[in-house]
This record gives sequence, C-alpha cells and structure tokens, in this order.
Amino acid sequence: MKENARNRERNIYGLLGLSDAVQALGEQAERGLADRFAAIDGTAAYNQAKVLLAMREHRVDEGCLTGTTGYGHDDKGRDTLEAVYASVFGTEAALVRGHLTCGTHALAVALSANLLPGDELYSPVGRPYDTLEEVIGIRDCACSLKEYGVTYRETGLLPDGGFDYEGIKNAIGDRTRLVTIQRSKGYRLRPSFSVDEIGGLIAFIRSIKPDVTVMVDNCYGEFTERIEPSEVGADMIVGSLIKNPGGGLAPTGGYIAGTKRCIERCHYRLSAPGVGQDVGASLELSRSLYQGFFLAPTVVAGALKGAILAAAVYEKLGFGVLPASAEERHDIIQCISLGSKEAMCAFCEGVQAAAPVDSYVTPVPSPIPGYADEVIMAAGAFVQGSSIELSADGPIRPPYAVYYQGGLTYAHARIGVLMSVQKLLDAGLISL
Ligand SMILES: *Cc1c(COP(=O)(O)O)cnc(C)c1O
Repeated sequence: MKENARNRERNIYGLLGLSDAVQALGEQAERGLADRFAAIDGTAAYNQAKVLLAMREHRVDEGCLTGTTGYGHDDKGRDTLEAVYASVFGTEAALVRGHLTCGTHALAVALSANLLPGDELYSPVGRPYDTLEEVIGIRDCACSLKEYGVTYRETGLLPDGGFDYEGIKNAIGDRTRLVTIQRSKGYRLRPSFSVDEIGGLIAFIRSIKPDVTVMVDNCYGEFTERIEPSEVGADMIVGSLIKNPGGGLAPTGGYIAGTKRCIERCHYRLSAPGVGQDVGASLELSRSLYQGFFLAPTVVAGALKGAILAAAVYEKLGFGVLPASAEERHDIIQCISLGSKEAMCAFCEGVQAAAPVDSYVTPVPSPIPGYADEVIMAAGAFVQGSSIELSADGPIRPPYAVYYQGGLTYAHARIGVLMSVQKLLDAGLISL
C-alpha cells in the first residue's frame, strides 16, 4: 500500500481509538488468512444459490411480504416462508414464527411437543446449553419437562472432545424417546461438531435404537457449511432468528425444521391442539424474515471471517482460543480464554465501543434469567440481544472465557476484534 494511503487508513482507525500498534497486529494476523477467507466465500456463494432456488421454487412474490392480523388465517407469506425454510434445510416441514420468542423457546417447544410422560430425553454430547437446564429440569423450574414426568440422561464427551460410543450405547434404553445434540459449543469449552460428525453420531444411535427421535440444537451453525444436520438424519433442527438465519434483519423469532410428524406436533404445542399451524398472524414481520434469510449466507460468512481474525490475533497474544485460527469452523463462535474477570470486562468494553448502537455504554456483569452465573454481555445491536450482530458474552466463571460472535459485515467485525485488543492494552492487561 502507498505510504499516504496507509496513513489515511491509520487516521480513520485512529479516530475510532485504535493505536498504530493494534492496527499493525491486525494487519499482520490478516495476512495469513486469505485462503481461509476465499473458502468461506465459496460456501456463502453455494448457500446463496440454495436460498435463491428455494425462493424461486416457492414463487415468493410481493404478496408474501405483507402480513396478516388477528387469527392470521391464510397467511400466504408465513406459510410460504415455512416452505422456503423446509426446502433450504432439506426437510418435509418447518415452523418459522415471530411467536417463537427466542432459541430457548423454540427448543422448549420442539422438546415438549415430542416427549410424553414416562419418556426419557438423552444428550450424548454432555450438558446442553445453560438455558435448557430449567427447560429440562436439571435446575428446578415450574413447567419443566421433569415436572411433566420426562426424565433426562446425558453422556459426557471424552477428554479429547470425541463421542463416548461405549457410554452412549449403555445409556440408550427402552424409555429413550428423544436424543438432543447441540451442534455449537455454547458456553462450554468443547469443540463444535461438523455436520458430518453429527451424521455419524446419528447413524450410530439409530443402529442401537432405530425409532428414536433426534433433535439438533442448530443455534449458530446455520450456513457455516453447505449442508445442515437435517440432511444427515436429524428429525428436527432448531434455532433462533436473531442468530444466523435471521441475517441480522429478523427482529425476533425462531424456527424448527424437520419431519412432518415432528413439526405438526410443534405447531400444536406452540398454538393449540387442533388449531396448529393455521393460526398465528405474522403482522409486519414477513418482509424482514425473508430478506434476512436471503442475506444470511453472506452475513454468516462475514461473521466467520471475524471469528477467525479474533482467533489469529489472540493466538498471537498468547491466549487460549477455541477453535484455533487454522481449524475448520462449524459455527460462528470464537471462544477466548482470558484468565480473569478484568480481562473479560476489558474485552467486552472494546466490543461495546465498536457497536453502532449504545457505543458509549460500559457493559458490567449481571444476573440473567436462565443462567446460573453472572454474565457479561457486549451488544450494541440494531436488534436487542442479536448475536449475529457484533457481540461478546460469557458467564463469569473460570477460565474466564469470552464468547465472541457476529458482525453483520467483516469490516465491522474486524474493528470489533481490534477494539477489544485496544481495551486490554489500555487496561495494562497485555503489552504489544
Ligand atoms: C443461543 C443458544 C440457545 C438459546 O437461544 P436464545 O435465543 O438465547 O434463547 C440455545 N442453544 C445454543 C447452542 C445457543 O447458542
């Protein structure tokens, strides 16, 4: 780059608060990532074509983009969107609604719709996401599955992060009705699983018990690969629209895609038995859900690149990162073990300072419903709590790992990563 062009760049980033040393670190880390980034663009192009094909196949038109009120009978936009999701995810049916208030709600609907008293829910990949502990009844809560007579069992991963096939074989029994597999690491220090790995695990489980229902918690995984877990044997995949598939535009909602049998039950659980999918006014939501889904493959690509840059930068600084910058990605989460509460706070201050909304706010750890530990969150998003937008969070507990994700564009994610480094530097927690 010409010297004065470089100076101009340094100046604009300087105005954002990034020192020359931090910018140089970012440039250095970025230099080695060109091939990774090209591969991610290839996946985004493939998935873009997949979404476009589905929208053509289902003849999405202007009439789909406006909504209904009241009961929402004959809501063409809502019904067509569900068909589009089903096509893209390779399933018979889907439930895609703003009425699903968040990912946890979508998962709770999928579980409670497909488990009956006396059944056992089983996780072969260890403890599920924090908020599901109350849904399942691992932590007591009114209306948990446990209260309705559904028991729960789990088998942890092996120390190397692999599946414990022997343990899984022994744990599956007569009452095992539904198997839940979480694709992304969530707030845990473990690898996220590739769709292929999930497919292998499902095949193994079906070889023991062919008729078991398999649900995959797909949060943060959508569009990071060319196929989804529903294409390798999962009966249901479940996720949040303020993560990957909402593309940053969906203001709320969740989805469940899967077999007709499972999804019909989910519709009955979400609304009412007998009424099912025929009700549910989409109000003014449809346009942003379509447009967000359309953008999602490229938005996810930007977030993946940001996560890889974060890994590369923090590796250089000597912190533990999961996954490593050179590893394959199966979700958009980057975990960085920062070793102290102070470093978690500084990191989140940096991400917050890079936010387009609420950039002047200082994030502080606080209790959050559904989580056992205090959580710190940096999120200055156009959609409240949206974690496909630039965000970082983590429970305040050893090893003080922060989970960084999102960024609607790579250019923005890059600034967020470097601002986090800057705040650690300013707080005297690292030196460059
Ligand atoms: C985010 C997340 C959830 C819960 O989603 P919310 O929308 O926060 O309720 C569940 N599982 C995983 C793996 C997640 O990342």
